[in-house]
Amino acid sequence: MSEDKQYNDGSENPEQLTGLKTGELKKIAAGIPAVVSSLKQVFGEAGVLRGLKALGELNQKGGFDCPSCAWPDPDDERSGIAEYCENGAKAVAEEATTKKLHADFFAQHTVEDLAALSDYEIGRKGRIAEPLFLPKGSNHYQPVSWEAAFHKIATSLNALSSPDEAIFYTSGRTSNEAAFLYQLFVRAYGTNNLPDCSNMCHESSGVALGESLGIGKGSVKLDDFYQAELIMILGQNPGTNHPRMLTALQKAKAKGAQIISINPLPETGLMAFSNPQTFKGVLQINTALTDLFLPVKINGDMPLLQAIAKLLWEAEKQQPGSVFDNDFIKQHTQGFDAYMQHLQQLDIQALAGHCGLSLAQIRQAADLIKDKKKIIVCWAMGLTQHKNAVDTIKEVVNLLLLKGSIGKPGAGTCPVRGHSNVQGDRTMGIFEKPSQELLQRLGANFNFSPPQHHGYDTVASIKAMHDGKAKVFFAMGGNFLSATPDTHYTARALRRCQLTVHVSTKLNRSHLVHGEEALILPCLGRSDKDILNGEEQFVSCENSMGVIQSSKGVLSPVSEQLLSEPVIVCRLAKATLGSRSTINWDRYLQHYDHIRDDIERTIGGFDQYNARVRYPGGFYLPNANREQRFSTASGKAQFNQAVFTAPKQAPDELVMMTIRSHDQFNTTIYGLNDRYRGVYNERRVILMNEEDMQERGLVKGNLVDLYNTHNGTERTAHGFIALPYPIPRGCTATYFPETNVLVPIDSVAEKSNTPTSKHVLLKVKKQQLPST
Ligand code: SF4
Repeated sequence: MSEDKQYNDGSENPEQLTGLKTGELKKIAAGIPAVVSSLKQVFGEAGVLRGLKALGELNQKGGFDCPSCAWPDPDDERSGIAEYCENGAKAVAEEATTKKLHADFFAQHTVEDLAALSDYEIGRKGRIAEPLFLPKGSNHYQPVSWEAAFHKIATSLNALSSPDEAIFYTSGRTSNEAAFLYQLFVRAYGTNNLPDCSNMCHESSGVALGESLGIGKGSVKLDDFYQAELIMILGQNPGTNHPRMLTALQKAKAKGAQIISINPLPETGLMAFSNPQTFKGVLQINTALTDLFLPVKINGDMPLLQAIAKLLWEAEKQQPGSVFDNDFIKQHTQGFDAYMQHLQQLDIQALAGHCGLSLAQIRQAADLIKDKKKIIVCWAMGLTQHKNAVDTIKEVVNLLLLKGSIGKPGAGTCPVRGHSNVQGDRTMGIFEKPSQELLQRLGANFNFSPPQHHGYDTVASIKAMHDGKAKVFFAMGGNFLSATPDTHYTARALRRCQLTVHVSTKLNRSHLVHGEEALILPCLGRSDKDILNGEEQFVSCENSMGVIQSSKGVLSPVSEQLLSEPVIVCRLAKATLGSRSTINWDRYLQHYDHIRDDIERTIGGFDQYNARVRYPGGFYLPNANREQRFSTASGKAQFNQAVFTAPKQAPDELVMMTIRSHDQFNTTIYGLNDRYRGVYNERRVILMNEEDMQERGLVKGNLVDLYNTHNGTERTAHGFIALPYPIPRGCTATYFPETNVLVPIDSVAEKSNTPTSKHVLLKVKKQQLPST
């Protein structure tokens, strides 16, 4: 048996086809079907009483923060009944489930048997109820005491020849308090190897915004949506991935905003919305959202934005001062003239060809934009996971700078974050490239010398493990194997580790594709009560718009053996660092207020943290862009010049982007349906343009293999069902993580090193049915 096949890594299992059913593409998002779907999931997993208790506190002031996406809660009044969406409810159902896994479950089931299940089936098993250890050569996890677990990790870490041989990954669910302690421990241990899920999603946004505007975060507040004249949404599917954004868009429309949606797929959530939390929604009265939909080719955003800028410039020349905000440009920007000269050299017909739209369609967009002064641009991974992602996002900034649409009400940048505290974790110092300022403060406040050299990001971590340069992998949350690219390569990397450790709430595939030895450390979820020294604690999170809010769980944990993430870090730090530690970990184990006190004196913007986090609704972190201040090298916002280069593509190759289904949040699969896209009971599908199918002799329902060759390595994903779908020619879409196997480890975005999961070249081969 080859190393690749020792355990099923879940990427290639056509036997898991479950029986596809198809239906119409839905025209309206949410509505009553969303309510039915949410409640079914919550009551099915948690029971009615426990389910209602959790939902009643979800996203309420003083309640707990949704563990799913990072969309903000309203600053002012919140619905006392339901301040959440279908996906938020499903995320709570996952955590609040009463199913639990004790050691007897693992005595009955081998790791190999569990690994043969689909991600969906693994996720349905329940909460991990006690610490578990997989000894070298064993096929069964067995119970272990917390003390022994910490001792095992500490011994492994201290035996490494360098701290840089350990990797400390963070998923975006980790609270501010846990993240701060975690990075403090890791740096006191001696490495900056702190990769996170941001490396795989909005790293490109952070780099682009940092270089162009001086801060790697978006500038808008939720309230800006209600003052905007125009909202552009690129490469984002809010109906599935950030559903309450639809409520904001609906309100923005009611106040007169227009919406341009730019996406290869006509996503239902972009088209129309029926808000189930309103009387009209209950009556199925819906709001049309998009005024102009542009079905851009995959990775056609940069040429589209450049073409729009060219048309705006033509209009400005005809009537100077009517289109551009020349005062803003003069006062706050740098590089305008060079950018204009660069635009002049670009051929608009070629740009239109690259983005796959007609000039008339692009002109419609420019016409909508040209007289608007308050514009918000939202984007997500449709922009960030491309080779040229950083330059594409800088093109978004160019457009906003031309219009003076940054730092005034109703205008600005809005990178919509995928996981609830992914932004906060970065603020707390989870970053492989820490600033000098952070390292100096850590050193001064905690009396140690933090490592100065940069650590590994996610892709570099995988390569280091693969090449034997990293030997211990520790994950604070997440499902690393399913979240990362090039599944077989990453699986090999994890298997080559001496020890893999996961702090987790539920069983997932990364527990089943492991190092020589492995540990699972079960932790409290967001919805769980966290009691320390007899007192209920709360943690805090930062949403996509920089609001810091408390989060306090309300449910009784499913097991007495669960520990909170901050407690796990403190006890691990004590076990590992012992007497060489200069940090008083016991203080943090008394009360989380002590953690927040130390965050306040180490991280900027957290003055009076303990007081302000207790305000209902929390507080905003400072954001210089909101005051039209730009802390770039020049002190001004920077125009950027980029040239679009079409990736080389053979005539029979197609471009694939990975997408999420509506029954999914990141790697968590809630069900097998993708209601809005009309795909039911099956995830191994490839959505294709009908003409591309005909060209390949394919009809709906044909079974195909997907394959590609990158730098001499062939990658294959077997057994996908071809489905005709309204997607531009040459483009296809498949569900993540099933096709991560096709994303080459060394296909990454320039500057941000983000895997190019939205731009994967592949060929499609029809499977020959066995003769009967
Ligand atoms: S929009 Fe995001 S944060 Fe809000 S309830 Fe839905 S999943 Fe949770």
